[in-house]
Amino acid sequence: MPMNRIPIQDTTDHDSDPEVVPLYASRRKIHPRVAPGLYRNIRLLVSTLFLLAYFLTPWLLMDGRQAVLFDLPARQFHVFWFSFVPQDLILLSGLLVFAAFALFFVTTLWGRVWCGYTCPQTVWSFLFIWVERQLEGSPQQRVRWDNTPTPLKREGRNLKGLEKLARRLGKHCLWLLIALATGATFIAYFYGARELVTDALSWQIPLIGVAWIVFFTLATYINAGWLREHVCIYICPYARFQSVMYDADTLAVSYDPNRGEPRTSARKRAATGEDGDCIDCTLCVQVCPTGIDIRDGLQYECIGCAACIDACDTVMDKVGYPRGLIRYSTENELAGQPRTSWRPKAFLYGIAALLTLVLLSTTLWQREPLRVEVARDRGALYQEVSGARIENSYQLRLQNVSNQDRDLRVSVSGLPEVELLPDSMIHLPVGELLDIALRVQVPAGALEQSNTDIEFIVQSPDDTLRIVRESRFIGPRN
Ligand code: SF4
Ligand code: SF4
Repeated sequence: MPMNRIPIQDTTDHDSDPEVVPLYASRRKIHPRVAPGLYRNIRLLVSTLFLLAYFLTPWLLMDGRQAVLFDLPARQFHVFWFSFVPQDLILLSGLLVFAAFALFFVTTLWGRVWCGYTCPQTVWSFLFIWVERQLEGSPQQRVRWDNTPTPLKREGRNLKGLEKLARRLGKHCLWLLIALATGATFIAYFYGARELVTDALSWQIPLIGVAWIVFFTLATYINAGWLREHVCIYICPYARFQSVMYDADTLAVSYDPNRGEPRTSARKRAATGEDGDCIDCTLCVQVCPTGIDIRDGLQYECIGCAACIDACDTVMDKVGYPRGLIRYSTENELAGQPRTSWRPKAFLYGIAALLTLVLLSTTLWQREPLRVEVARDRGALYQEVSGARIENSYQLRLQNVSNQDRDLRVSVSGLPEVELLPDSMIHLPVGELLDIALRVQVPAGALEQSNTDIEFIVQSPDDTLRIVRESRFIGPRN
């Protein structure tokens, strides 16, 4: 079935060929109806959990700090029990690779469930539509408001026009309020939720912070309020390339033409005796947030929200036919073949996602809470210092990548009568990077060879943390 009904090269004369869809189409305003049912309940539950998680997470505290905080000025990124520094970028790359494989896997098996239930664009659009419904009424009423002239366009008394103006104003104010909460919450992940509120109350948010809040507020308002399905149809790249992952066994919201056709209204049924289960009520089209007719087959505009399933099931219940004329099904199943879930493509995506996850978890699990690097001073092999001692210089780099401040002691082993200078306790706050110049001295008579392996040991006072790095000590040739 075609995923894209727009021809790539449009050289046809549209006036003479009404079958060809032009590349440009003016916007058709969509007022989707509400379709109560199982999938709407699932969507409501998932959306509520998603919104709660988004708005509440910045307020969670852990060890006295914000549990999820991307502290850009300090170059520290805290995610619950883990703290990351820019050097951990490889982990982020791993996470993105895992997310991509997981998305491919889910799409191959279950189609666009991500778009229909969890995509922020869908969640916020449905929230904005809900606000619109509270203030402007049912879709039919909203169409009536669309056609009601405002007092600005008509002279004289126009109470309906005034009411329309008041309702529209209220709707846009509420949309802006939700958008502002969304934008401010997004910035709270970077700025700190409590600090943001305190600074906002005392008008001390820096200009750059205000600019980002305004940007995300407008982005939310425009995307969820004005663009809506246009983001899914024209902007989102996933809608375009997800067809690569689809095959004849991918589960998708589908209309069963074998059962539904010929479409037969009650009047037509009485007149012709035709008996397709689709009564051509068009309810499935009226509830669709992207305004398509699922009976035309699988289309790239379909975000898989399953609103049409709920709508059609309600109709089937009313007319006494079995549910499922529109249902989650596969192309093969609709053609009468058995459904095959585990195809090689899905299997490979699943294995790749699993491997990436295992690799990522292992790296995270084995990650040392400290970064420790030791480098010998390349300027001089060794130095003879007072007291007939041989000295080597080193550069020690420490970075605290754990989520707690650390007190550390550095020592050295591998040589008799070895002395480390300076030899004092180091305090290393979370995320801090410290470069220390170290000197190691040994009595010349204690050296048995010119090149000796030594170890630098960085440990906490209670010895719960102990990291060892190898290096070399160079002395004169005997
Ligand atoms: S809701 Fe069902 S019965 Fe009504 S037009 Fe759509 S497919 Fe046909
Ligand atoms: S066709 Fe059905 S599943 Fe697809 S977007 Fe429209 S209502 Fe949602």
